[in-house]
This record gives sequence, C-alpha cells and structure tokens, in this order.
Amino acid sequence: MNLLGIDIGGTKTSVCIGDEKGRIVASRRMPTRTPEGPESGIRRTIELANSLLSENRLTLKDIEAVGISAPGPVSVPPGLMLAPPNMAGWVNVPVVRMFQDAFHRPVFMNNDANACALAEYLFGSCRGTQNLVYLTMSTGLGAGFIANGKLVQGVTDTGGEIGHHVLDINGPPCPCGQRGCLELYCGGLNVANRLREQIVTRRIRTAILDLAGGDPANIDFKTFVEAVKQDDPFAVQAWHDYIERLAQGVGTVIMFMNPEVILMGTIAIHAGEQLLGSLRAALPRYAWKPGVEACRILPSALGPAIGDLSALAVAIDNLKK
Ligand SMILES: [Zn+2]
Repeated sequence: MNLLGIDIGGTKTSVCIGDEKGRIVASRRMPTRTPEGPESGIRRTIELANSLLSENRLTLKDIEAVGISAPGPVSVPPGLMLAPPNMAGWVNVPVVRMFQDAFHRPVFMNNDANACALAEYLFGSCRGTQNLVYLTMSTGLGAGFIANGKLVQGVTDTGGEIGHHVLDINGPPCPCGQRGCLELYCGGLNVANRLREQIVTRRIRTAILDLAGGDPANIDFKTFVEAVKQDDPFAVQAWHDYIERLAQGVGTVIMFMNPEVILMGTIAIHAGEQLLGSLRAALPRYAWKPGVEACRILPSALGPAIGDLSALAVAIDNLKK
C-alpha cells in the first residue's frame, strides 16, 4: 500500500512516499518559509509531492491515503491548523481541505506530538506497547498518549498537552495565559533563554558561556548539557532545578497513565543517560514506586525518520478506523 506523508514544521516541511510497514520509498524536504503564508507554503508542498510521485513513476491513483503531521494546536475533525506558536499568520488554515482539493485522496491530520506517539506505537523500538507515552522534548514540550492501544485525542484535541500542565501557580507567565507551565521550566528554548538571561544580568562566569564561544546568543541546550558534564557549578545547580521540574511533569504522567514506556525525543536523545539517569533518580519523589519501576524511560530510536514516519502513522491509524 502506498501512502503519502507530509510533515509540516515551522522551519522545514517534508514529503515522503512510504507504506504501512513504515518503509520509506522516497523523501524530500524544503524550507516552509512560514512568513510567506499558508497558501504559498501548501502550494509548494503540493508541487513537491507531485514531483516526488512522478520521479518514482507513481500517480495519485497509486496513493491510498495522505497523512499529515502538523504543529499543534490542530482541530482534527474540520482539519484545521489553529494558530501554531512558531508559525505567525498560519491561523485557522483548512489544511486537510486544501490537500484534499489538490490530491482527491483521503487526507488525515494530527498534531506532531500525537503523530510521533503513533509512529512509536506502529514502528518504534517498543512498537505494539499498549500504554505508551511520547514526549517531544525539543524547543517546546509536547506529548502523545497511547492508552490501551489507542491514541488519546480528547474532546477538543488537546489530550496529552502536558507542556501546559501547571507546576506552580505562582510561576512565571506562559504565553498560553496560565502561569508556571511545565514547558516554561523544561522546553529547550525556554531553558536556554532563562540561562542566558541569568548569565548576562548576573554576570555569571560559567562554562556554559565559554562553550558558547563567549557569545550569550550561542547559548542553547547543548552548551548547557556539555557544561554539566564539565561539573561547572552554575550549570550543575541549573541542571538539578531542570531535572526536578521534569520529574514533576513525568511523575504526573506516570500517576495519571501508569504507562509501560515513556519515549523521549530530541533533548533526551542528545543528553542520553545524563538526563535519563538523573530523571529516574528524581521520579520517586513525584510518583508511586510500583508505577515508576514498571515504566521504562527511553530515548526514541526512530532517529531523523520520525517526522516522515509520524505523517505515515497518521494515515495508517485513520485507515484502520
Ligand atoms: Zn502554558
């Protein structure tokens, strides 16, 4: 069965041809060029898909369905991208209808965190695990929950939005309107921004700044992780605070869901055991022991293909319904 997968991101958009086993026949990516607006972005995605099909001697008639992974929030039944935080101007975009009009094939969409959870469930190292959670752990912090073998969508499509679970009602304001959300403490971008601000305003001497070549603008999560490895005192204290907040969020997931496995994306893949070991040690303060001991916490093993696979997984999951 041939499927078309479209992975829309704030920076890049990828189009792939693959099958129900997660075999990717061909894949191509392009810059999304977000500021040019959704009409232009989607027209260029359609052109890319058509040229990928013809290069592989396929036509749209050979495609069973189209799956789209898009930055949240999305509204699934009407097929809208609502207002992704990193894509200004992409508001209430009828993505599913636009691709349906162009392709005349069934088109399905979900948010990227849910799509990644489906990809892990169908193709990942723990595929088939009935109770599985995927945490994106990238610039932001999103999650997709699989419970009893089914994706938890929720009544307004926000099932699994643990990035905006409030950890501290007196915490800093979040762009979502609440205060003290998990993503403020543990999203890669927010962590880097907070470290930069502290280092600059308090003129802190730290290996984080040295690793950034002395330029605060170059501070990111990687320089943070490297400085912790070097036992830099400021970085180690900040790491302790970060892990404690992450454990608070992950502990909540374990108490709510009692999952068999939690798979983690970008930051956990990069930081590896440095992060996972610290997190496991902190978790018993936030969740009951049997649940913590029964839950494996692993970095995702799908690698850079997860974007394409997540889009295919959205199509496969909907074809099964
Ligand atoms: Zn929030």
